[in-house]
Amino acid sequence: MPDNTDSLDLRRYDRQMKYGPIGVEGQKRLLRSRVLVCGAGALGSVSAEMLVRAGVGHLRIVDRDFLELNNLQRQSLYDESDVASGLPKAEAAVRKLHRINSNVTLEPVVTDVQYRNVMSLMDGCDLVVDGTDNFETRFLLNDACLESSVPWIFAGCLGADGQTMTVVPGKTACLQCLMPDGPPAAGSLPTCDNAGILASIISVMASIQFTEAIKILCGHLDQVSRNLTVVDLWNHQFRTLDTSHLREQGNCPACVEGRRDWLHGKRGSQAAVLCGRNAVQVRLGDEGEFNLNKIASQVTAGQVTSQSEFMLRVTYEDLRLTLFPDGRVIVTGTEDDRHARSIVARVIGQ
Ligand SMILES: [Zn+2]
Repeated sequence: MPDNTDSLDLRRYDRQMKYGPIGVEGQKRLLRSRVLVCGAGALGSVSAEMLVRAGVGHLRIVDRDFLELNNLQRQSLYDESDVASGLPKAEAAVRKLHRINSNVTLEPVVTDVQYRNVMSLMDGCDLVVDGTDNFETRFLLNDACLESSVPWIFAGCLGADGQTMTVVPGKTACLQCLMPDGPPAAGSLPTCDNAGILASIISVMASIQFTEAIKILCGHLDQVSRNLTVVDLWNHQFRTLDTSHLREQGNCPACVEGRRDWLHGKRGSQAAVLCGRNAVQVRLGDEGEFNLNKIASQVTAGQVTSQSEFMLRVTYEDLRLTLFPDGRVIVTGTEDDRHARSIVARVIGQ
């Protein structure tokens, strides 16, 4: 592949290049690299901003949701005008990031990550950064990254607590080494909705993710952390647990035996209730199946309140339906999956 990094003005990265482990060579590697950021909420948007400022060449940002006012407390990439615009997060993120560094190629994708599309979302990427809000998607990313030998950086935050681990296929433990039985049962874990979250833990965990990302992209795989890092900011505790023995035990179904239960759709219910949102996601069709104009003209109940190329909003009684072109409807105002499905059927006649 031709190296066009020589023609770029590297002065904006001067302070970063002066940091020994990066240097000019590391910077050029960053400029040639492609990263998938999964989720453009708190962790994803903070990580994406740092990666764009650092000069990563190509960033693909995938997110299924739109912005709401209560996101602004911790999702520092966005502001009130983004909420007012009603843009999907991936789109709002890319517009903001382009103003920060216009040399970076930015690719927004408005969809949810599932076993059918995860491999194509990862296509051509050197690294995956976890900004998701649920363990099912993380186990899917774990499978997909093992399958394609692409490193990924897991992180999760709740309250003032966070945990993170870097997975380099063939070199480190994977998520399933850490949790052999898979994700905790649905509903068994607290969520941002009931446990809340402090903005500071996001910055800490995203900073660790970013640093691990830079090590990988600059070719310093030997310096990647082999630990699960657990942070409790409120009590000012930072713990690291060495995970290398987990892989050495040699009985992980995913990274040792090669099973891909999530990637093949055998596990994972694609939980419909959205974390912390009082909302349910209903999937009606496959990729690209919604013609929003057509649906807007056929709404049989409720009222169309706004429409753009990205989404169609319909209110029905005290519920708000947001339809996306990729065949999803987010029903806000309920956590009852069946109720949400029946309302969608009533409103758009399906
Ligand atoms: Zn494993």
